[in-house]
Amino acid sequence: MTQKNRGSNREIGIVGGSVAGLFTAHLLARAGSRVSVFEGAEDFNLKPRTLIVTSRMHEILGGIGKNAIVNEIRRFELFTDGRAARIALRQPDCVIERTRLIRELARSAQQSGAQILLGRRFVSMDQRKGALALQLQRSGDAAAEEAHVNTLVGADGAVSRVARVAGWPAQMTVPLVQAIVRLPHGMPPDTTRVWFIPDDTPYFYWLIPDSPTRGVVGLIGEEGPETRRTLERFLERQHLDPLEYQAARIPVYSKWIPVRRQLIGGEVYLVGDAAGHVKVTTIGGIVTGLRGALGVTEAILNGGPGRRLRALRRELDLHLLIRRTIHSFNQGRYSHLIDLLNARTRTDLEAHTRDEPGGVLWRLCLHQPRLLLFGIRAFLTGGGFSARGCAGA
Ligand SMILES: Cc1cc2nc3c(=O)[nH]c(=O)nc-3n(C[C@H](O)[C@H](O)[C@H](O)COP(=O)(O)OP(=O)(O)OC[C@H]3O[C@@H](n4cnc5c(N)ncnc54)[C@H](O)[C@@H]3O)c2cc1C
Repeated sequence: MTQKNRGSNREIGIVGGSVAGLFTAHLLARAGSRVSVFEGAEDFNLKPRTLIVTSRMHEILGGIGKNAIVNEIRRFELFTDGRAARIALRQPDCVIERTRLIRELARSAQQSGAQILLGRRFVSMDQRKGALALQLQRSGDAAAEEAHVNTLVGADGAVSRVARVAGWPAQMTVPLVQAIVRLPHGMPPDTTRVWFIPDDTPYFYWLIPDSPTRGVVGLIGEEGPETRRTLERFLERQHLDPLEYQAARIPVYSKWIPVRRQLIGGEVYLVGDAAGHVKVTTIGGIVTGLRGALGVTEAILNGGPGRRLRALRRELDLHLLIRRTIHSFNQGRYSHLIDLLNARTRTDLEAHTRDEPGGVLWRLCLHQPRLLLFGIRAFLTGGGFSARGCAGA
């Protein structure tokens, strides 16, 4: 990144000390900016959350996050209506534990010179000439604090208060529920299973092993309590007992929103879930959130949206196109899709990750032209995808 270091003579405040916020803090501090992170939680002892990411995470983070890896996935098994397809990954996916990743990112941000203030909840903001005055609440004694910044980055998740206060519209969110289970007898711990059952969900179920004996079974739904009940019924059918649940709402990317706003007192950016940077095919937000951090850093340091944000936008739009095409698939269409996977298209899927849909899509169509026709027909007749969920919930 060419850094004229436009950020070095200004105070940068980041609200939210999770994956996107801490990586942004690390990048900006490393480039010489003065950065403070305001995190509402009092410590990094977060609820466990098992995540799967592509090898792209390593390319972005370099050495950071290595200790967060708890398992590697070398194979995907896709199921629909009695059919199955197996895809061996050339580059293994990583299963990571979110808390460990956040702790490593926090250490890197601090080593780069960022200040992390825990137990500071962002409440509101006053615009003064030449600065934004952040109103914070300390968690221990509920005392009010004020911090002055020239640039504010909202990395405070799907229901971002920074976004609301700075005037962005609320984004749609959907519930994601996962249950920790013992792995079924004989299931290899390096294999992730995916089931397409459109009567239950327009997305899919997954079973991701996070150790040789345990894994998470999950589901993305459209309404909270119903999503949990649907997952419970699925677990029963699969003879799996939930040991504990993990759940939260995640944003649904339905169009690109500009990540920067100029206010009287300074500029405001959004990053990660706060900006809706989530792949709407799989609802994965880690890699795209990290890429958003790179893009926002580039924009802060150099001014204006750079090539990284433009590339991220193209990719999120492509995921949206795929989601629009498959969102109203019925069982028959999923079965047909699995049938269309020939040896060469499987090789394409094996060689490319979910984080490079552009590269893989055109190869798939080249190696199985019926996929293109099938996709176009499905897109034209499928009724499309309108993000159902809750705004700002
Ligand atoms: C159960 C579950 C499983 C998932 N699995 C995957 C997966 O397998 N792969 C994948 O890529 N993605 C997955 N995701 C999505 C992924 O976890 C998110 O996209 C990612 O964590 C978003 O990171 P973030 O830093 O943008 O926001 P968050 O992780 O939501 O962090 C926001 C931070 O801001 C803080 N905060 C909020 N409000 C304030 C405030 N007012 N003041 C101060 N601080 C505040 C919060 O305490 C939090 O630390 C999953 C999500 C869930 C819920």
